[in-house]
Amino acid sequence: MGAGIHGTGDDVNDSGESHLSEADGERAARRDEAVRAAVERGLLGPGTPIIGLLDVTGIRESAAALRAAFEAVVAPGTPVLHAFAVKATPLVPVLRLLHQEGIGAEVASPGELALARAAGVPPERTVLDSPAKTPAELREALELGITVNADNPQELERIDGLMRSAVSSSPIGIRVNPQVGGGSIEALSTATATSKFGVALRDEGAREWVVRAYADRPWLTRLHAHTGSQGIPLSLMAEGVAETYALAEEINRRIGRPQIDTIDIGGGLPVNFASDATAPTYAEYARVLREAVPGLFDGRYGLVTEFGRSLLAKHGTVVARVEYAKVSGGRPVAVTHAGVQVATRTVYVPGAWPLRIAAYDAKGRPKQGPPVVQDVAGPACFAGDLLAEGRALPLLEQGDYAAAPDTGAYYFAHHYAYNSLARPGIYGFVPDGEGGVAFAVVREAQSVEEIVAESGGTHADALTDVVRRGGIGRR
Ligand SMILES: *Cc1c(COP(=O)(O)O)cnc(C)c1O
Repeated sequence: MGAGIHGTGDDVNDSGESHLSEADGERAARRDEAVRAAVERGLLGPGTPIIGLLDVTGIRESAAALRAAFEAVVAPGTPVLHAFAVKATPLVPVLRLLHQEGIGAEVASPGELALARAAGVPPERTVLDSPAKTPAELREALELGITVNADNPQELERIDGLMRSAVSSSPIGIRVNPQVGGGSIEALSTATATSKFGVALRDEGAREWVVRAYADRPWLTRLHAHTGSQGIPLSLMAEGVAETYALAEEINRRIGRPQIDTIDIGGGLPVNFASDATAPTYAEYARVLREAVPGLFDGRYGLVTEFGRSLLAKHGTVVARVEYAKVSGGRPVAVTHAGVQVATRTVYVPGAWPLRIAAYDAKGRPKQGPPVVQDVAGPACFAGDLLAEGRALPLLEQGDYAAAPDTGAYYFAHHYAYNSLARPGIYGFVPDGEGGVAFAVVREAQSVEEIVAESGGTHADALTDVVRRGGIGRR
């Protein structure tokens, strides 16, 4: 592990473990190598003061671990589709890499579906789950044969209409909310009593409605629940899956045949942001599920999973140059180029989303030196734009680099255009086989010309002369 890395002051993760596996240690070493090589090759430097890095080896390892974890608990021959939640890292090359590793795509908007298709993910390995699908989206999904999980009765009615007018090979399910409760992060808890997602199972009459919905529609063959994301304990996730399984059993029993043939258990495995340890692991979760819901794995049901964060988070690192190092009120402040635009959740809700910071020197080597309590600030023009506050690290100096590991999901791929800050370039890296590092462009850095174009640049006089231009839709 890089000598310069400093956690959030909490070395032990949620499950009480701080054990680094060999693979975790190797991933940390690859990260240090990649930062050094990026500086050496000028991918990162005074003119390009921020980039995102993706560890291709690590992504492949996580995909393999996911597949192996479920292979170890299902009956032989059970169909299992792992559909990556595209929202976690909406980058076409990442989706292509995962596809090559046997992972499909879970999409929730026309944009995400287009990304999955651009990556070559076939319809039969794609699942559409959004809570606000338009008629056009539903029609396209059914035409393509993509799996659709209906969120609510009104949506199911729309699907009824489409199913009457055309034949579709799409497997179709209903998303239910088992209402087992929330985790430590309210905004990410999808199984609360009043969550906006799915059919709330414990509401009056809801369970009966769901049973009837299946009884009336022989083409309704799947059941879906996603109990939440970061902040949900494994036991609560397992409870959500157990409730969903019990409902599938009830429906099939009452209909008198195994109409529901596939259960989609969603994603949501939490990620440890406090150290390089991968915890909990997919293998642990699969074992917890098998203990809690043995019938789910006996071969009667196919399985779909929808993991996002746990597949990508630990394989991304954002690295930013220290533009200035100053002292304010006696506290050292490193002003870097990574702030709210790449770490939006951390900046706005630092308590729920603390990130570790790794300090590197101007040559990209892990920085040595006694820990000094300092702030690591971003470039945006508001006081709260801090990547880390009061963190003990080797003193960051002008020209050094500050890196935030564990940012491969929901961070630098989720640009927030505050201050019109440009989207940074993203590079994938692998060992080149000769002791060095090979890089590939995953996404180009955004240019200022692109920023202008995206910001109405071709409509510059739109507001100064609305009436003479006739207005839109007027005659
Ligand atoms: C966000 C989401 C996921 C992925 O959640 P992670 O916490 O990233 O694993 C899976 N399924 C649905 C329906 C989601 O909304």
